[in-house]
Amino acid sequence: MDHRFDLIIIGGGAGAFAAAIKANEFQAKTLMINVGLPLGGTCVNVGCVPCKHLLAVGRYKYQAQHPSFSSVKIPQVQFDFARAIDEELQTVAELRQEKYADVLANLEHVTYLEARARFVSPHEVKASGQHFYGDRFVLAVGSTALPPPIPGIAEVGYFTHIEALRNKELPRRLLVIGAGPVALEFSQLFRHFGSDVMMLVRGDRLHKKTEPEISEALEEYLREEGIVIQKQTQMRRFRLERGEKIATVHSEGEERDLPFDELLIGTGKTANTEALGLEAAGVEMAENRAIRVNSWYQTSVPHIYAVGDAADLPKRLETTAGKEGTFATINVLGGVNRHKINYDLVPSVVFTYPAVADVGILDEQTGERGIRCHCGTVYFNKLPKSLIMKDTRGAIKMVAEHNTDRIVGIHLLAPYAEELINQAMYILRARMTIDDVIDSLTVFPTLSESIKYAALSFRTDIDRISCCI
Ligand SMILES: Cc1cc2nc3c(=O)[nH]c(=O)nc-3n(C[C@H](O)[C@H](O)[C@H](O)COP(=O)(O)OP(=O)(O)OC[C@H]3O[C@@H](n4cnc5c(N)ncnc54)[C@H](O)[C@@H]3O)c2cc1C
Repeated sequence: MDHRFDLIIIGGGAGAFAAAIKANEFQAKTLMINVGLPLGGTCVNVGCVPCKHLLAVGRYKYQAQHPSFSSVKIPQVQFDFARAIDEELQTVAELRQEKYADVLANLEHVTYLEARARFVSPHEVKASGQHFYGDRFVLAVGSTALPPPIPGIAEVGYFTHIEALRNKELPRRLLVIGAGPVALEFSQLFRHFGSDVMMLVRGDRLHKKTEPEISEALEEYLREEGIVIQKQTQMRRFRLERGEKIATVHSEGEERDLPFDELLIGTGKTANTEALGLEAAGVEMAENRAIRVNSWYQTSVPHIYAVGDAADLPKRLETTAGKEGTFATINVLGGVNRHKINYDLVPSVVFTYPAVADVGILDEQTGERGIRCHCGTVYFNKLPKSLIMKDTRGAIKMVAEHNTDRIVGIHLLAPYAEELINQAMYILRARMTIDDVIDSLTVFPTLSESIKYAALSFRTDIDRISCCI
């Protein structure tokens, strides 16, 4: 193999793949080095794809057991958990082949090497015992879920998202640590499958990255489904006692023992920078070990760029990793920093049912941005579609600039909010005002009418409007 390349990409996930596709368009001689997760990285193998597949299976099962309509009764729903995992793994294998392996095979300027890469100098990495020279680099090495340092955690054992998506035995009592997207999605997924789920939350609310009204409503719905949520709870230690796993927690001024069968870590992830030799390249890291980059994904070393979960950037998503990979490659190969993402216009979602979906600025962020705002919140028990479907769970909060009425944030809790939020993103991107939304005609009856209802709440009393708006 040749050892000199125009571009070396380290990683094999969303960020690296987007970079490789763009580098191929530039006809740059490119080496992509990946190891750890299979081709495709987190999203397809152990993240978005398998997780969303299982959430859909769980929702289907749960809705069959809990129909919204009194006329429907399904006497016995049969469910095979091990088979659900087999089907999930099969789906992953198919997508990995079609969306990654087949795509890579068609990138004629890109060479793929399965190996761990480590910098030995600013232009050189060592992988598979060989040295490779790169004019330029894009680092897309991702992140890993690490267990919090709680005494006894290794003794009782734990699942990260990786093991939880492969294990074929349904846990009877599942303890989940965390309150963010991974903790929430896995808690509901296992609850829908039939586990007794308890979430242990350090703070006083779930999912802090949305509006308080939304996280409060989500908490209520999860509790209604039978998930036990312990807030303001500190983990003290774990132990094995006569073969039983026990967690000791501290809440409301006292310690309590909680027996459980499996523990799932749903707290944050740490950038995979430990074995990358960044010191040898002179690349600076932030305190949390993520790679420091400027708005154009350039590190402290001008010819080295970093993207995705490993970079110190505002969002850690498949979409952002991919677009950052594309933009970083255009910037680094073009020799000019021109392309960057406006993260305020990137939607993020927690794929529970109903889902939480946010785009733009939160009410609490407007002060720090120097924006004077006003907000409108509407609950879905006012929405015709929700009333028709006999499921009125949901809420929407719209944040608008006070002087101009321009909409700067839309925050949703709704069935399939992951679909509705794309519409909200276009509203923000087009810089629409409250009245632009009110004067647009949406389909009746739809859940996406909720966006229009939120806009109307600025002008009229929602409790008194008809279906014809
Ligand atoms: C359970 C879960 C669900 C998620 N769901 C969603 C979702 O629905 N929507 C969404 O947008 N995002 C979702 N995400 C987030 C999304 O998956 C990630 O943000 C995205 O995949 C990160 O891509 P990446 O390219 O930065 O890293 P990765 O995809 O993790 O790829 C990094 C690759 O680099 C390899 N590597 C590391 N170090 C080295 C080295 N030294 N040499 C060679 N290779 C190395 C790693 O092993 C890995 O293969 C989810 C994440 C999780 C965990």
